[in-house]
Amino acid sequence: SWGQVRNELLKSVGKNNFASWIEPLKLDTLENGIARFEVPTKFMRDWVSRNFAEQIRQHLTRVGAEVERVEFHVPTQRDAAPAKAEAKPNRASRNAPRAGDDAELPGAPLDARFTFDSFVVGKPNELAHAAARRVAEGGPVTFNPLFLYGGVGLGKTHLMHAVAHELQTRQPDLRVLYLSAEQFMYRFVQALREKEIMGFKEMFRSVDVLMVDDVQFIAGKESTQEEFFHTFNALVDQNKQIIISADRAPGEIKDLEERIKSRLQCGLVVDLHPTDYELRLGILQQKAEQYRGQYPALKLANGVLEFLAHRITTNVRVLEGALTRLFAFASLVGREITLDLAQDCLADILRASDRKVTIEEIQRKVAEHYNIRLSDMIGPKRVRTIARPRQVAMYLAKTLTTRSLPEIGRRFGGRDHTTIMHGIRKVEELKTTDSQLSEDLNMLRRLLEG
Ligand code: ADP
Ligand code: MG
Repeated sequence: SWGQVRNELLKSVGKNNFASWIEPLKLDTLENGIARFEVPTKFMRDWVSRNFAEQIRQHLTRVGAEVERVEFHVPTQRDAAPAKAEAKPNRASRNAPRAGDDAELPGAPLDARFTFDSFVVGKPNELAHAAARRVAEGGPVTFNPLFLYGGVGLGKTHLMHAVAHELQTRQPDLRVLYLSAEQFMYRFVQALREKEIMGFKEMFRSVDVLMVDDVQFIAGKESTQEEFFHTFNALVDQNKQIIISADRAPGEIKDLEERIKSRLQCGLVVDLHPTDYELRLGILQQKAEQYRGQYPALKLANGVLEFLAHRITTNVRVLEGALTRLFAFASLVGREITLDLAQDCLADILRASDRKVTIEEIQRKVAEHYNIRLSDMIGPKRVRTIARPRQVAMYLAKTLTTRSLPEIGRRFGGRDHTTIMHGIRKVEELKTTDSQLSEDLNMLRRLLEG
């Protein structure tokens, strides 16, 4: 049966090819040694008959259908599904048909959860977010490419999917292609192997918006780079928007050709900074809100999210994973989510993300930064030029280490824990109004954590 054959084809052509090319085929008739399939578009018809006809024939024969020839046809306008025609109202009004106009794009599936709505904006990602938003408006191309870079789990993929969703909603007709650089290479190599380079080129040059995720992957892969470069240039020449992501700035990707580096730098290069406490807390609050809907009976104690935002600084994925586990666990045992529960349930994650920052280190760096003596950190002086840096150090000791207030007090010359508390509060209060202080804190945090 066709079902059996499909399973075999899935194995032999691979998941991606299957989804793009085999899945949409509809077996029409099988008689007189001819298997007739319906395909949705002309472009697909050509592609499939060039690339997969023989394999399909062989597989059909193998399951006992004597097939000599495989044919593909595109349904005429009359028997085409009307729903489809309605979904793409603008297509008919286009002036000139382009190669591959109707074809399914060989992109990666988009994660429905990665939208602008679910993206929490903070200082570290506000530029990247604003740039992505601009592209998602679909207006005239103002910078090309948009190059987003940053460490693992900072939201690059999320933003790219969000742009794709948004564009697709605003302009259902737009051909938006999102894929990873790895998938780009995979498709390219396959096209080479099957002598289908023309089809490959046509396909990639027919898109309106191209997004390639994790482009660092093609570094060192010569012919893929070459092809990427040509695709890139062809699209830029047509004024088609391109978005690229990588784990570092274009200039810092090793084994990437110079001409590609400089091309990538031509547009807007924006980095996603490591998350800060506020952003992490914002993300946790948003997630917790979702979970509240999912587990209405669960209680979440005050301070738990703050604790997690302080302690899990590695990446957002880990942060999300921690919260997921916490809610699942709490609902399982039917307990309120408290600090204690969090510490038990997330011991491994907390241990792994434990920064090895010591209070001594904090005191030294802060003293250096404010140009005061290390001994003044623990000494009794109360002038502001010394007391303020000391409070900053207390604040950092509280937020960057797991030490308790009394312990911190001991390291600050045997001060009482209420004094420490007071110092921390002071800094918390000031940093919202005093931009210099807030900058100092960011800088110091970076120094200490980096
Ligand atoms: P990257 O591609 O940079 O490695 P992802 O986009 O895959 O990171 O993000 C990792 C996870 O963290 C995803 O689940 C994503 O939804 C989430 N995430 C990252 N940044 C944010 C943010 N600012 N707001 C909400 N979720 C975020
Ligand atoms: Mg990613």
